[in-house]
Formats: sequence, structure tokens, C-alpha cells
Amino acid sequence: MQPLQASTLRLPSPPQALARVIQAASDPSVPVSSLARAVSSDAGLSVQLLRMVNSSMYSRGARIATVDRAVAMLGNRSLRNLALCVAVQNCVRGGMGEFDLEGFWEDSLRRAVAARMLAEHFSAADVDPIEAFTFGLLQDLGVVALMQTAPERAEQWMAVRGRMAEDRRRLEAECFGMTHDDVADALIQAWALPPELAAPMRHHHHPARAPAEHRSRCMLAGQAELMAQVLRCDDKRAALGAARAGLGREIGMEADAVDGLLATLSTRVDEVGKELGFRVGRQPPMEEILAAANAGLVELNLTYEEVVRRLERALADTEALSKELAARNRELEQLSVTDTLTGLPNRRALSGRLNYELTRLARDGGSITFVMGDLDKFKSVNDTWGHDFGDVVLRAAAGALRTAAVEGALVCRVGGEEFGVVIPGRHGAEALAAVECLREAVAAVELPCPDGASRSFTVSLGAAWILGPTQGAVDPDAVAVQLYRAADRALYEAKRQGRNRVCGAAEPSTWAPAIPPRAA
Ligand code: GH3
Ligand code: MG
Ligand code: MG
Repeated sequence: MQPLQASTLRLPSPPQALARVIQAASDPSVPVSSLARAVSSDAGLSVQLLRMVNSSMYSRGARIATVDRAVAMLGNRSLRNLALCVAVQNCVRGGMGEFDLEGFWEDSLRRAVAARMLAEHFSAADVDPIEAFTFGLLQDLGVVALMQTAPERAEQWMAVRGRMAEDRRRLEAECFGMTHDDVADALIQAWALPPELAAPMRHHHHPARAPAEHRSRCMLAGQAELMAQVLRCDDKRAALGAARAGLGREIGMEADAVDGLLATLSTRVDEVGKELGFRVGRQPPMEEILAAANAGLVELNLTYEEVVRRLERALADTEALSKELAARNRELEQLSVTDTLTGLPNRRALSGRLNYELTRLARDGGSITFVMGDLDKFKSVNDTWGHDFGDVVLRAAAGALRTAAVEGALVCRVGGEEFGVVIPGRHGAEALAAVECLREAVAAVELPCPDGASRSFTVSLGAAWILGPTQGAVDPDAVAVQLYRAADRALYEAKRQGRNRVCGAAEPSTWAPAIPPRAA
């Protein structure tokens, strides 16, 4: 939508008689007698002024019956403020489309009464309550200017009348290209407003931007808006929350005290509206506001519970997922060290175990024996009975080796029909006896062959051992390679001697140095 131009704004203006009074009263040197004369020259103004002076907003006790006395009692500044209040109610002549002018004055009156109450309540701000009432009444006059300038957009604005003040202000920016406080400068000029009334009009949404000497006025105007919106806004919970938060932050009021002030505001707006001739509707009493806000709270609690339930479900899911993940990881880890055909640990597992045992041995002493086993004439098993039966033999041999192994030994399939066995804590004859048990166990297995006959199969084994501890740094992987080679040589010897037997290395293996000595 086309943004409005500041230069084409149609501003509400005070009736002439009032403009004269406002101007005269703004000059402190103008004597009370001539002010009284200026007021008396306008019958309407006289009536309204007396009504105001005797209203609960201004009354200081005895009833005041004449304009002279009213003017004398008020003094220049208060008279000017009163005249402004009268003027502001008479400054508009319609032509604002769908705009609900009465509703606007009702809102303005709420702001004015709230501002006055706050000025009384919060004396530290040092704001005259009559002045607060005046700026409360004036502060949103910019809205009228926007509506007068673009009455065709009023309907759109009316649709958000029940929203929070900041939401409405955002819509003003979208709908008119400027907000009601953007219009303030033009209004201040047109109405010749003094700085103490101009500042709240311009800065009630951003008190921090006001000149220091007027900041507390602007703050009060902003807080008055928050209080007023509790009565007007559709979302009572949000509005009440905003008022409690704002007043708590700005003037250190407890929530209970804020609620008390709001309860008073609700009844005062009713009273003052009647006294001053504003047509105001029924103001929602505090019980109703609290009930509406709490109904919102119940809804909020419900959704809160729902959120908690969902979170708990999500947490449980996550927990189950991470358990599953941990189990899968264990499985994977297991798989990575397991031979799938036989279920024995694989070459990788063997390297790890050997590395661990050799490191311990080098440090703590003792012995380990490493055994290489290789099925005899296995190629001919495959060739004669088929590869599948070869697998059956492999699995049977693996099972026999595992069962026959001494406690603490590790039996692995290192590839093909070859097995590696780590036997910690034994060497020499003792170790060879244990290896002999392995050989016997394999030979003892009788397998029914595809031709129906049962046969047994044999394994040849070569053993090598190493003793600890040793001095100096050790490379366990290099030592493992040496052990492999020694065991493989012994295995070769067992094959050479006719298979189905165990051979041991003649000598213990030596510790390979961690770093080979440099050539001299
Ligand atoms: P030796 O007594 O000298 O060890 O003779 P061998 O026939 O056992 O030796 P060779 O190394 O020539 O043959 C090993 C055979 O093992 C060859 C290969 O087909 C077979 N083999 C290796 N892995 C598997 C396997 O996973 N399943 C089956 N069925 N056979 C395998
Ligand atoms: Mg082989
Ligand atoms: Mg073989």
C-alpha cells in the first residue's frame, strides 16, 4: 500500500476558542483574570471545564461552581492541560471511514486514567497527575491523523483493534507507511504542545529515546498503554503478562500490586467516563480478566504437559536408539574381529591379542607360545568332496581346536585352512603338550562324508615361544612377525616329517629391538 506522506497528513485540530485558551494558558505571565475571561467567552468550554474540575480526576475537595474560581484554583499550567483535554475531545469532525472513534476515545481515556494513577502511585517519577492524565489522553492522537488522511484504510486497522499495542503499531507501519508516534512531530507543532506533553506523544513506545528530563514521563505513558491494553486486548493472558512484566521492570511493582492497580483502573475508567461525558462501554472487572488469563494458562499448561510428554517420548526413543546403536556397534566390532565361516576370532583379533601379550611379557616376564596350524591335504578334500564339504571340515576343525585349547589360549582362523593359537604362560615341553592336545582333538573328529562313510581329518602344527622380560624398548609387532616366522618354520618341518604332527622351534624367539641399530 502507498505510504502516507508527512506533508499531506490531515491533522485533527483544536476548536478556535480552545486554541486561544491553550495558547494564553501556556504563557505563565498571562494573569488568571484574563484566562478566566477567555474561558467564559465560550459557553461549551465553560461547562466542560467545570465538569472536569469537579470530576474525580481533578477534584480537591469542595465543589467549584464558577469559572473564575476554577481558573484561580488550577493555575495556568493545569488550566492549559484541562483545556487540552477538552479540546482533544472536540477536535475531530468524522470522515474516518470505518474507524471506531468512540472506541478510540475509550482507549485514550483508559490510557489517561492509567497514566494519572501511575503518576500518583509512583511519585519518584515526579510527574503531575493532571499532566499525566493529559498526555495519556493525547498520546495516541496520531492514530486519528492517520485515519483522517486515509479513511479507506480504517477497516484494515479496525480488524486488529483487539491486538497488543505493539502488533497494532506494526500494522500501522504496513498499512500507512508510518506509525501514530511518527505523526507526533506534526501534531506537536499544530497543537503547540509544550515539551512535557510533546515528549510522551513522540516517545511513549521508546522512552529511552526521549530527552533525559522527560524520560520518566515517556516511561509512564508507555506503562499506561500496557495497563490500558489489559482492558482492551483480546488476549488477556498476554496483556496481563506484559503489564506485570513492564511495571515490575520499570517501577519495581510486584504482580499482586499490578493486579490491584488494574482492578482500580477498571472501575475508575467507568466513573471518569461518566463524569467527563466519554461514551465508554463496560470495563471488564479484574475477576473477569484473571479468569480469562487463567483460562489461557490452563491451555498453556495443557500444551506444556503435551510438550513434556513429547519430550519424554523423544528422550525414550533417543535412549532406545543409542542402546541399539551401542549394541550394533558391539556387533560390528565383534564382526570385525570374527571369522564368519568358523565363528573363530580372525587374524585381526590375533594381532591385537599377540600385541597385548608381548607388551605385557616384555615388561612383566613369563612366556608365551605361538602356534601355526594347517589342515593336511585340504586341497584334496575340496577336490574330492566339494568346497561345501571342505567348509564343513573347516568348521569341525575350528570347533575341535577351540574346545581343546587350554584356558587362556586364543584360537583364531588366520586364513584359508590355517589357524593361529596364542598360549600365554607356557613354553617348551609344556607348551608342546598343549599343542599335541590340539592335534589329537582335530584327528578325533569323525565326519560323515558325502559318500556315506565317516572320516577324520588331520592338522599339522608348528610352535614357537618367547620368554620375557626384556630390557629396552620393544616393538611388539616386529616381535610378532618373528614369532610367526618361527612357528611357520616349525609347521613346515611338521609337514615335511609327514603331517598330522607337532613340531617346536629349536630355540626361543629373540626380542626384536624397537629401532634397528644404525650401521657403524
Ligand atoms: P598341505 O597338507 O601341504 O597343507 O596341503 P593342502 O592341500 O592343505 O595345501 P594347499 O595350500 O595347497 O591347499 C589349501 C586349500 O585350502 C586350497 C583352498 O582351495 C582351500 N581353502 C582355502 N580356504 C578355504 C575355504 O574357506 N573353504 C574351503 N572349502 N576351502 C578353502
Ligand atoms: Mg595351507
Ligand atoms: Mg593345508
